[in-house]
Amino acid sequence: MTIMSMCRNACSRALDRCSHVFPCLADPARRSSLGLKAALVILHVVYVGILFLFYSELVERTKKEPWYTFVYLLLFVATLVQYFVTAGSSPGYVLDAMRALNESNASHRKPSMISKQPASSKNGGLTLDMENQSGRNIISWTKLVLDMYPSGTSVRNLTCIYCNVEQPPRAKHCHDCDQCVLQFDHHCVWLGTCIGLRNHCRFWWYICGETALCLWTCILYIEYLKVNITRAWWKGALMMLLLITLSISLIFLLLLLLFHGYLILTNQTTYELVRRRRIQYLRGIPERVYPFSKGLCHNVYNFCCAQTDIYNLERLPTAVEVEEKSRPYTCLDFLTCRCC
Ligand SMILES: [Zn+2]
Ligand SMILES: [Zn+2]
Repeated sequence: MTIMSMCRNACSRALDRCSHVFPCLADPARRSSLGLKAALVILHVVYVGILFLFYSELVERTKKEPWYTFVYLLLFVATLVQYFVTAGSSPGYVLDAMRALNESNASHRKPSMISKQPASSKNGGLTLDMENQSGRNIISWTKLVLDMYPSGTSVRNLTCIYCNVEQPPRAKHCHDCDQCVLQFDHHCVWLGTCIGLRNHCRFWWYICGETALCLWTCILYIEYLKVNITRAWWKGALMMLLLITLSISLIFLLLLLLFHGYLILTNQTTYELVRRRRIQYLRGIPERVYPFSKGLCHNVYNFCCAQTDIYNLERLPTAVEVEEKSRPYTCLDFLTCRCC
């Protein structure tokens, strides 16, 4: 038996033991997700910990101005909390929206009607029939989705072949989550979840916090190097190396923040921007037209203030609306704030 195979056996035995003690580690996907989360926390602790360990002037400053370090550590904790909140949040799955609709339908039915009109078995028994005698506010998921598309659209073209559910506009099946996600943006490996309708705002605030923390930490590293560059060379070299990696992360985070800021202002998703020509419902729409945009202010308001417990599904714009959006701006448009 070679050394490699002995090591492999020892590793698998250790993993088996761990899975026995912690059942959540038995699933490889869950294990890698937990590993990533642990790596993120360790990275944060290492960058900030080394700073407090080496930078004695910062410790002195903390004694004189405790609020400064308090605010910094508050940002540190808030960023980590925001990371875990975003990672644990639902992006808004199509199946959940369907369930919410069915629950809403059920609450509008009279108790006597429920026994007379059982739910359809289609789509795992989640779609309710349109027929009802109590009347108001009851609609099937299929009808709701079809109403969001131009008339004549076939249900078959809208049905996900993996989940067997009808996808509203902007929804996409994620192969990592194995579910259809509403307003799919991307699947974030770092967070271990999809970014979609319900957690895009949380994701943006997380990037915001991470950028601010990274920038502040960079400033503290530069301050350290300014004061201590002539002291122990290995400390200087280590701090310089950490500063370089922090600066690269900061550039990446700033670009990401700006990119998602642009998406929010124009009401687009990363998927729609990257795959614009391949998405059926965006074909034929001019490049510079943002079909779901309702104006800058409305887009920002909907993104930040729209209630996350309500599934705010968007229908496709009509040809007239697209034509109106593609009309060139005139002086009058600027005066009347057409873009807002
Ligand atoms: Zn699907
Ligand atoms: Zn996903």
